[in-house]
Amino acid sequence: MGHMELINLKDVKKYYEMGSQVVRALDGIDIAVNKNDYLAFIGSSGSGKSTMLNILGCLDKPTSGQYHLNGKNVEILDQNELSEIRNLEIGFIFQSFNLLPRANALDNVMQPLIYRSVGFRQRKNMAMEALSRVGLEDRIDHLPNQLSGGQRQRVAIARALVTHPSILLADEPTGNLDSRTTVEIMQLFDQLHDEGHTLIVVTHENEIAQHCHRIVEMKDGKIFSDTIAQRSKIEATA
Ligand code: ADP
Ligand code: MG
Repeated sequence: MGHMELINLKDVKKYYEMGSQVVRALDGIDIAVNKNDYLAFIGSSGSGKSTMLNILGCLDKPTSGQYHLNGKNVEILDQNELSEIRNLEIGFIFQSFNLLPRANALDNVMQPLIYRSVGFRQRKNMAMEALSRVGLEDRIDHLPNQLSGGQRQRVAIARALVTHPSILLADEPTGNLDSRTTVEIMQLFDQLHDEGHTLIVVTHENEIAQHCHRIVEMKDGKIFSDTIAQRSKIEATA
């Protein structure tokens, strides 16, 4: 079962009509992602990376083409089924962390569990477990503005992990972090990959991409190249 397929896209297109113009954000994407892949989407601004991640994460639907996630045809799911699949299968990590500013670390991490039919005690235990996995068990009472940038991103990663998703999707996760904290976060991703998670990271930074095992370069909404990375540990330059 070493190559179980999680994601399969066939001729996926995402077009936006802007007045008389059509923006081809994704323009015929074919890709398969296996369980425990560690993949970077790289490419210049506007090449379609975030659109790709939003479609993979079921936040958005393709204009045409097929998307199978864990063997399920995403196309035929309604909004309820889509949000259920999102909640069960997918953890999101964003550049801007997207934490609730007035909620402490623990409450932020418990938040995705609110819609689950599990009691408060179990939600708290699950959140504590996720926070200790990212090394923040001693910061659970801190508000986001009482944490460093790297710690905020760790809270956001714990929030993504708390539902035990099969896939972690990260859009420019280190874009707001200094180089030392970037190394810390990438080491955490390495560890999550070693533990069996599937990681898909969007970045425009080559040294982040080189940390992943597979690099898919996008250009004008198309896949330009899909290669195995020559693993090079990124080092702090600070
Ligand atoms: P990247 O993340 O690689 O910078 P995006 O996926 O955000 O690229 O955008 C790809 C293209 O699609 C860009 O030309 C962008 O302007 C366009 N685009 C993205 N989202 C929308 C939208 N909601 N409406 C119209 N055009 C969009
Ligand atoms: Mg983007």
